[in-house]
Amino acid sequence: MKIAVLKERRPFERRVAATPETVKKFIGLGASVTVETGAGDGAFFLDDAYAAAGATVAADAATALAGADLVLKVRRPLAPGEGEVDELALLKPGQTVLGLLDPYGGQAEALAATGVNAVAMEFVPRITRAQVMDVLSSQANLAGYKAVIEAASVYAHGFPMMMTAAGTVPPAKVLVMGAGVAGLQAIATARRLGGVVSATDVRPATKEQVESLGATFVAVIDEEFQQAQTAGGYAKEMSAAYKEKQAALIAETIKKQDIVICTALIPGRKAPTLVTAEMVASMKPGSVIVDLAVEQGGNCDLSEYAQTVVKHSVSIIGHANMPSLIATDASALYARNLLAYVTPLIDKETKALVLNEEDEIVKASLIAKGGALVHPSLVKPAA
Ligand code: NAD
Repeated sequence: MKIAVLKERRPFERRVAATPETVKKFIGLGASVTVETGAGDGAFFLDDAYAAAGATVAADAATALAGADLVLKVRRPLAPGEGEVDELALLKPGQTVLGLLDPYGGQAEALAATGVNAVAMEFVPRITRAQVMDVLSSQANLAGYKAVIEAASVYAHGFPMMMTAAGTVPPAKVLVMGAGVAGLQAIATARRLGGVVSATDVRPATKEQVESLGATFVAVIDEEFQQAQTAGGYAKEMSAAYKEKQAALIAETIKKQDIVICTALIPGRKAPTLVTAEMVASMKPGSVIVDLAVEQGGNCDLSEYAQTVVKHSVSIIGHANMPSLIATDASALYARNLLAYVTPLIDKETKALVLNEEDEIVKASLIAKGGALVHPSLVKPAA
């Protein structure tokens, strides 16, 4: 089996889908690996390190892809007009492509039309056996950490309480909105820095998780809240009445905060608006909001994609692609997620990749094969 690792070409993307560590492991499993030159530069994995791990370094994407059975990507290959290279045109029918393929982003059909087997890592089910392949968790965890670090660097005060001869610096008050993977890591990071942390979520299971990290849980706890979790463990869209009560509680809470980290998401929908312009205006001058949900429409009405803006004297950070700002570790974990996905699919005898569609993980994550979309959520019902 020949594996190709391409350089990511999207704006704000510094990650890479394989590291020298995973290249070595793939070679140990009987594969050969070709890495496009410069693929790891953004994450500080240099060509020499890939070569030392046993990879061939190719001069460009087309050369890396020649004869490849498996293509490892971070992001969906570029469609015509999306960037300097039409990556879709370089793919060959029968190749398998693994990556964050953004299945609902509107280009899934174009990807399917290339004839590749397309595996969307976002769709790997969150079952125990697949935890090691869970790219959403590995990346959200780092994003939650980095969001707090970014807030700390913009905040014009210290984070921990400091008692000095010249007086006391009070600790930062931090509110984390959404206590999923990113939010829980944001809570832990803000606590480690010495902040006084509270957090809110609509899923009842998060109350205990938040409290076990030493933060205060802030939520409207009524009957709807007790039911607000899908069987898959995700948040449900809340009723208008609940949202109103939640907004009133947040409005009261947010005034007293120095830093707000927004991480609230609902799968397949626009992120819920939790911080209105009025709430921003009620915050103290110098406060900081980080909106990790900005790519899904934002939790804060005033956040702007890929910008840090100052509104009502509050800094609002809307970085695009937060995991990419911690590119070395994000790549290392992502690459290990891909290695874990591929390893059980390599035939022990022939060393070939076998996409076993009976396997529930493959079944859930394979979105296209044979020139067509195959995932039930993407296949259009016959007219
Ligand atoms: P996510 O990124 O989809 O959402 C982030 C958080 O925002 C969630 O906690 C959600 O409840 C919250 N949220 C949504 N609407 C909100 C609102 N109006 N106000 C406040 N908060 C709101 O979530 P995630 O981090 O991907 O985690 C989702 C679930 O998956 C969790 O139950 C998590 O424990 C579970 N999970 C399971 C595994 C596994 O078993 N392998 C791995 C990771 C996560």
